Amino acid sequence: AAKDAGKGTVRVFDQEMERRLTARIDLEAALRRALADEERVFVFYQPIVDATTGRVTAREALVRWHDADRGWVPPNQFVPVAEESGLIGDLGRLVLTRACQDATTWADGARVAVNISAEQLGRGTLVGEVREALAASGLPAGRLELEITETAMFTRAEASTQELAELTALGVRVALDDFGTGYSSLSHLIAFHIDKIKIDGSFVRESSESPASATVVRALISMAREMGLTTVAECVETEQELERLRNDGCTEIQGYLYGRPEPRPQDAQYVQALNTLRPRI
Ligand code: C2E
Ligand code: MG
Ligand code: MG
Ligand code: MG
Repeated sequence: AAKDAGKGTVRVFDQEMERRLTARIDLEAALRRALADEERVFVFYQPIVDATTGRVTAREALVRWHDADRGWVPPNQFVPVAEESGLIGDLGRLVLTRACQDATTWADGARVAVNISAEQLGRGTLVGEVREALAASGLPAGRLELEITETAMFTRAEASTQELAELTALGVRVALDDFGTGYSSLSHLIAFHIDKIKIDGSFVRESSESPASATVVRALISMAREMGLTTVAECVETEQELERLRNDGCTEIQGYLYGRPEPRPQDAQYVQALNTLRPRI
């Protein structure tokens, strides 16, 4: 009987693996089509504000995809698929180009922050793509910020460092995203031409309950300040979190407290219509 159960388990496991593989292949095919016609691929923007004045200093560009069958697919699901399948090149260019164009229409002159995947960095193509997006839109380099994760920095580290140095020379700013979740180290901040660190949302959340996390956040902020770096805290949702971060000397704040990621005004109606078809994520 034990043997039968074992076999059954294996069979169920095989079916589960096959189901997942099929789902993954289907998702990739659907994403490929979506990127080809750019039909339901959007860039949403979330404000980043000055911690003391509350003024909007930047907006982060966050990609969104609505699939006819699946509804809104979270970026945490489809960005990894894009990275594994080589579609990230097209996706990355689309977001970069659109973000630069959209930022030129902002009356407040805020910067735009664009997420760059590990797969886009250190390949010898990023600097050209950034130059092109800036030239096509007319956006000054100083209004573009690139968000890169620590993990991305370590993939092809030498080539990445070179690219970031060239981008910095253009006047583009570089922010280290999800700081504290990777192999954080002071030496990396110096070597990689970083202007800014984004303290990961998990620390902001934990800080409310754990004094140890609150200490980590305070130490990160003061370390960054001594190095001449700007700090942004992600996922700030409450007044208490804002107050603590402000007291700690955090420079900028991002989170639902100030605003959620929203579509461009010209996409709002279409997005609204899609929401009624399939619920918003
Ligand atoms: P990220 O770059 O760390 O982006 C911040 C995430 O936190 C976003 O999730 C944002 O919607 C969410 N967020 C902001 N404020 C709050 C808050 O107060 N509370 C909570 N709970 N969440 C908040 P989103 O848009 O789902 O994106 C997830 C991740 O997907 C991003 O993390 C980024 O790594 C990736 N991603 C998104 N857009 C792009 C893109 O255009 N290119 C690349 N390569 N990656 C992207
Ligand atoms: Mg980001
Ligand atoms: Mg982040
Ligand atoms: Mg994050």
